[in-house]
Amino acid sequence: MHLLSLACDKGLDLQTHTPATSIKRQSDGMWNVSTPRGVISTKKLVVANNAFASTLLPEYTEKIIPIKSICCQISTPKDRPTPKVAGSFGLRLPGKSHDYLIQRPDGTIIVGGGRDTHVHEPKEWFNNIDDTTLIGSAKHYFDAFMQEHFHGWEESGAKVDLIWTGTIGYNSDSVPNVGPVPGRKKNIWIAAGFQGHGMPVIWLTMKGIAKMVGRGASWEESGIPNPYRTTQERLDNPRSALAERVQTIVAEHQEESSRKKAEAEVVEIVSNTDQVA
Ligand SMILES: Cc1cc2nc3c(=O)[nH]c(=O)nc-3n(C[C@H](O)[C@H](O)[C@H](O)COP(=O)(O)OP(=O)(O)OC[C@H]3O[C@@H](n4cnc5c(N)ncnc54)[C@H](O)[C@@H]3O)c2cc1C
Repeated sequence: MHLLSLACDKGLDLQTHTPATSIKRQSDGMWNVSTPRGVISTKKLVVANNAFASTLLPEYTEKIIPIKSICCQISTPKDRPTPKVAGSFGLRLPGKSHDYLIQRPDGTIIVGGGRDTHVHEPKEWFNNIDDTTLIGSAKHYFDAFMQEHFHGWEESGAKVDLIWTGTIGYNSDSVPNVGPVPGRKKNIWIAAGFQGHGMPVIWLTMKGIAKMVGRGASWEESGIPNPYRTTQERLDNPRSALAERVQTIVAEHQEESSRKKAEAEVVEIVSNTDQVA
């Protein structure tokens, strides 16, 4: 918010609750951005709506996929001391869950993940932009998270205060799409698809975009890592490592469920045989 205030003080015209519904290049080279509150005309355009990039640039439809994710805030009752957590954590728990957390200065814990609860149900999260609902099978995953996984939290009374979902832009090839949009006339850039790791990389990436947009720097001069460069070759690549991975996960889960079901049936037959004997 501090940076945003600074930018507004310097003249940024920020229009909230104003979705861009389409973009169109005019014959004079200007880009028109339509919104429900009117048309904005600009010489240079940066598309940075991440998971929603394909709503304005359809060529990214199968390249940047909206992935619904879940996150929550955990706190302890006011009359109990809040245990401290040393640093931030990425947790690899049994069952392949990938959780991540940080303690805020007020002692509350922000934790997200719960992958294992729903990863095998792609409808819940894959290509899903509905951040108005929780992910059903994950909504109680964090209820006793701190008590279960951290020493010193067993008697803390920690509980989930707030829980929400958000949309992450994942790329079919796992690398952000940044730079001049291929196949379009000039003066349009994209900076999107930062996966679940945008926070450490967006700052310098956008500095590079600003060099290109503001000072006419080339891609090579921008300082942005080359694998991020959005190219026609990447757009034309029919392969989606992301979709393949999801198919594998679903297949593995079905196999595992069938195996468990078959084992349960064997146990039941053995126990019935014991009763007969
Ligand atoms: C639950 C969750 C946990 C995460 N955890 C981490 C983490 O631990 N570490 C990390 O580095 N990253 C994390 N991320 C990812 C991180 O939030 C993103 O990488 C980062 O926010 C991407 O920034 P962005 O500005 O590119 O896009 P976004 O933050 O997604 O912003 C895009 C904006 O564009 C707006 N928009 C969309 N369509 C339009 C339109 N047509 N017109 C106008 N505006 C539009 C959206 O409303 C939104 O405000 C997490 C994300 C989620 C959802």
